[in-house]
Amino acid sequence: MSEESDDHVQTSGNPPDKPQTGRARTLRGRPWVGIRFDCCGVYTRVYRNPEGTAYIGRCPRCLRTVRLRVGRQGTDARFFVAE
Ligand SMILES: [Zn+2]
Repeated sequence: MSEESDDHVQTSGNPPDKPQTGRARTLRGRPWVGIRFDCCGVYTRVYRNPEGTAYIGRCPRCLRTVRLRVGRQGTDARFFVAE
C-alpha cells in the first residue's frame, strides 16, 4: 500500500478577500462588521451590500437572515448584536 500524500495547496486565482495588515483601515473591498447572533450565540461577519445601504448577514447555524441598515454617515460601530 503506497499512498502519496500530495499536500500541495494550490490556489487558483487571487483570493477576493485578502486580509490586509495595513495600519490604515482602508476598506477598498467590501466592508464588513462583526456581529453576534443572539439566537445561537455565535459571532460572524456580515458584509455590506453593493448599494452600501445595509449589511446583510446570515446566522451560520440557523441561517437566520439579519439586515443592518447603514445611516447616511455610515456606521462606526464594529460590532452589532442581532437579537
Ligand atoms: Zn442562529
